[in-house]
Amino acid sequence: MNNKEKIKLLQKEYADCSSCPLACLGRSKVVFGQGATSPHLMVIGEAPGADEDREGSPFIGKAGKLLRTFLQEIIPSDCTIFISNVVKCRPPQNRKPTKQESQTCSSLLLFKEIEILKPKIIITVGATSFLTLVPRAPALLKARLNLFLYKEIPLIPALHPSFCLRFPHMQNELKKDFYFALSTLINIQKKETNF
Ligand code: URA
Repeated sequence: MNNKEKIKLLQKEYADCSSCPLACLGRSKVVFGQGATSPHLMVIGEAPGADEDREGSPFIGKAGKLLRTFLQEIIPSDCTIFISNVVKCRPPQNRKPTKQESQTCSSLLLFKEIEILKPKIIITVGATSFLTLVPRAPALLKARLNLFLYKEIPLIPALHPSFCLRFPHMQNELKKDFYFALSTLINIQKKETNF
């Protein structure tokens, strides 16, 4: 089975998931990750919002538009991307997912997505996804522009685009996070081609 088929099968298995309280707190769709299935980059956010819940795709609302605009501006078009979230169902009133919701959903879906996709680099956006993948992680504002690892995969903690919408002067900082991710990816590829 190729990666595309494996991801499809995984998503089919959880299309009607009822493993955590979010299943009965008003979600209309399970919002699975989307994108290239052998990606250079995997971008991981927190949870779907209202637009994502309605359409069934991650990062398509206001924050998603900012994220996608910056990615397009900074990351070369031949660089493949998969976009996902820690929890796949919208929490009511866009509250933060609880620890239990994050742990349940990431064990059932996110960790398996990563295992299948084997991205060259992971970019977490916001503290929730950073803490989910790097449990004893330092505060996000201190951690930015440093490299971490999730099971040997280089991981770059970035600001969340929603935060940058609330504090527009931080938008340049989010761009710096993406430039840092790009330079890390270029270094990895240089090393791979030298051996
Ligand atoms: N915020 C997230 O963390 N994920 C989305 O999909 C949308 C907004």
